Formats: sequence, C-alpha cells, structure tokens
Amino acid sequence: MAVKQEIIDQYELIVGLEVHAQLLTKSKAFSSDRNEYGNLPNTNTSAISLGHPGTLPVLNERSAEYAVRLGLACKAQIREHNEFARKNYFYADLPKGYQITQDTTPICNGGFIAIKTAEFGDKKVGLTRIHMEEDSGKSIHDISPFDTMIDLNRAGVPLLEIVSEPDMRSADEAYAYLTEVRKLVRYLDICDGNMEEGSMRCDANVSIRKKGAEVFGTRVEIKNLNSIRNVKRAIEFEFLRHIDVIESGGEIRKATLTFNATTGETSEMRTKEEADDYRYFPEPDLQPLTITQDYIEKIKAELPPLPSELFEKYTGNFGLSEYEANVLTDDKDFALYFEEVVKSAKSAKSAANWMMGEVKGHINELAIDITKFALKPAHIAELANLVEEGKMGRTLASQQLFPLMLSSPDKAPAALAAEHDLVQVEDVSELEVWIEQAVAKFPDKVEEYRSGKKGILGLFMGEVMRLSKGKADPKITNQMIIKALENNA
Ligand code: ADP
Ligand code: MG
Repeated sequence: MAVKQEIIDQYELIVGLEVHAQLLTKSKAFSSDRNEYGNLPNTNTSAISLGHPGTLPVLNERSAEYAVRLGLACKAQIREHNEFARKNYFYADLPKGYQITQDTTPICNGGFIAIKTAEFGDKKVGLTRIHMEEDSGKSIHDISPFDTMIDLNRAGVPLLEIVSEPDMRSADEAYAYLTEVRKLVRYLDICDGNMEEGSMRCDANVSIRKKGAEVFGTRVEIKNLNSIRNVKRAIEFEFLRHIDVIESGGEIRKATLTFNATTGETSEMRTKEEADDYRYFPEPDLQPLTITQDYIEKIKAELPPLPSELFEKYTGNFGLSEYEANVLTDDKDFALYFEEVVKSAKSAKSAANWMMGEVKGHINELAIDITKFALKPAHIAELANLVEEGKMGRTLASQQLFPLMLSSPDKAPAALAAEHDLVQVEDVSELEVWIEQAVAKFPDKVEEYRSGKKGILGLFMGEVMRLSKGKADPKITNQMIIKALENNA
C-alpha cells in the first residue's frame, strides 16, 4: 500500500472512540460476587453470574456513584431518571442470554475530554454518552486445541461505556484522548486503566472524507485494541487503507475489524450490512434508578483534584511550563505528593525541579511508585528551601545532602547538613584563603583574564569549589574572584 503524500493530504480522518472501563468496585454490578482480576477461573461466580433462572439482580450502588463521578469530571449532564435494559444476544460466555445495560437513558450525556496535540492544538472532544452496563464472561481459545474454555469471573463486572463524538481528526488526537481518559479514571479511583489486562478497552470507529466535504464516509469499527499505541497504529493503518481503496475506485464496506499487533494490519471479522438487532427492552427485574440533585452535589463535593485543574494551577499560578505541568500531573500520587511539597516550599518552581529531577530519578531507578518513596514531602520542601535561601548550593544539595537524606529518611535536611558540615561558607576570610590558592595556581590564566578573556573566570570558580568541596557560596565567591583578579592588575 503506497499512497502518495499529495493524495493523502487531500483526505481528512474521522475518529470516534468507544471505551469500556471496568469499575473498581468490590463486588459485581448486580450481585455480591467478588469483582477481582486474576483469580482461579469460575471462582467469583454464583447462581446470579451463572444466569440461573429465578435469580434476581440487585444494583451495586457504587457503580452508579462512579458513573456520576466520571460524568461530573467531564462536565456531562447527569440523568435523573435511569432505566436499565436488556441487550439480547447468544454467546457461550453470556449464560443469561442478555446483558444488562442502559439503552435510551444513559446516566450521562454530553460533556467533553480536553486534549492537546502538536498538529491541532487545544481541543474539546465531545462525549455522546456514558452508560452503565455489565461485562460478559470470557471465552478462552488458546488452552485446549479442541475446546473453548469459559471463565465467568468477569461475567457481571460493572462497566462504564464512554462513547465519544466523531470529533478526532488524527491518530495523535485519539492517542491524546485515550491518555486523558485513562488519567481521569485513575484520578477518580474508578478504574485502574490497565489496557493490557483488559480493565480498560477501546473500540475505534474510523472513516475518511475529502477535505472540505460535508458528510463522513462509511465507518469501520476496530476491536481488540489492547494498548493506546495499538489504537494509534490501527487508526493510521486504516486511514491509509481507506484512501487506497477509494483512490483505486473501490468502496469502504461497513465492517467490524480486528487489529493484529504483530503485522500492524487489520482484518475483517464480520461485515455489518445492517444494524445489529439486540431486541432491547426494559429490564423487568430492576427498578428505575433516581439520581437526585442532592446526591449529585454530594458527589461533586467529594471529587478529588482533577488532572486538568492541577495542570491549570501549575501553568497559571505556579508559572510552570506545560511540559513540567504534564510530568507533574501524569500520575495522581506523584501530583498529590508535589501538592504537599508545595505547601511548605518557598518556590513552586524549585520544588518542581526537585520533583522532576532528583525525586523522579530516584523512584525510577528503584522502579518504585512515589507512594513507596522514603522521604516526606515536608523534607523535600526543606531541601529546596535550603537552596532557595542561599544556605547551600544546588549541586552540593543534590549530590551530597539528598543521598544523606535517603539513608536517614527521618532526619530533617537542615540538621543533616549541619551534622555533615555541608552548610555553605559565606565567611569572607575563609573564602579568601581558597581564592588566593586558586589565583596562585594559575598565574598564566590570570594574565589571560586581564588581557580580556573574561570567560576564564569559570576555571577559578571551579578551583575554589574543588578546594571548598562545593561549599563556597557561589555568589560571594564569584564577586570576590573578580575583585582578586582585577585588583592585582
Ligand atoms: P455502534 O452501536 O454501531 O457501535 P454507536 O452509536 O454506539 O454505534 O457508536 C458509534 C461510535 O462511532 C461513536 O463513537 C461515534 O463517534 C463513532 N462514529 C460514528 N460515525 C462515525 C464516522 N463516520 N467516522 C468515525 N466514527 C464515527
Ligand atoms: Mg458500539
């Protein structure tokens, strides 16, 4: 498939994403069966998960709470009157013969996810709806050569389906959207966002149109995408394939495709000539769910800080760059740690530098999470403040004090600095001794300085730092060296 760039440039990509997020509830959506990943097959089941006749579902209130949390975070409309519906289809891992979902009354409508890409800048990707439903069981085809194994631990696990508008115009935008959705569900503590384990899954709808055209082309839906990168790869592949088909006089068929991550190509699972007929009807075994304004207000008041709010605060109030704000807010626990540091730090900028440099470097090296980091936020703030207040050079603090803190996590940095004689030397008579030695060591360099090579100053600074083991106050030393070099003229 080799399509010329000038042909590609005539087309526009259209993407809409459907995300399924498994909720982090203790029990399932409509029964008290455990909701846990990785247990022995068919151990988190009961007559309800098995779909035995005569059993009745009971709504897990927590799944509705999580839906409201997500809806509020996306500025969506929360529905007051919610009904459940049956979506009927036959499949071996769906013993009831239907899935409980929401059809005409999704719990959330509208709202958006804010993204940013290099090509299109800031953008709000609209949400069509978010609705509650239950997961099916799992069919396993690769254990036995002759049989399909069924594991019903997943049957009945609560899901939110998040359906976007067809608002994305590049694979990068789809990538940014999924990254934001994953970050958001993690901040909200409603889903672990783990695409490899299938706790967050994505179907990508893709079509193209000629630039300037009004209507979208026929769309395909790509399933089985198990990482954000693979969503991007599959979309890129489909974009070129659609152009190729159309440019060679063909037509795109409405179809469901699967993506092969090894070859990077898609293939057809089934064509969709007509809409699937699931014979939706209202679930007779569940009462409608009413969500009151008071309830919404209560959930709103309990919302944790959102990544987008922190981003605004860091780039706005703190004057950090977008890059810095992104690194700091990427992981919720890391951001919350930084929030604590900032409470007692003299400068948010310097606190951010320590977080992104030494702290991140250290936890990456140990491959641990910030929650396992030995040092208290208040001590990182104190470390940053020692440098801000000019009590210690940045290098000395980083190379000597920080490692000492790591080996004595309970000691306050200022006390450790005093104990190990790391406090910066500002005493002029002490500094003079080192400066005299430095000047005496390089008489020819002194001459060079005097003949105009001012850059040579760094050499003397370096020498004084070496002699003082990094403790000489850089500002005072700098001025004193200049004086020494010029006075001797
Ligand atoms: P279905 O039940 O067939 O999956 P839905 O209405 O639930 O249909 O979901 C449709 C998804 O496809 C939405 O995310 C929507 O934004 C997206 N979509 C609709 N039309 C197009 C199109 N022409 N190109 C790309 N995506 C589209
Ligand atoms: Mg769909």
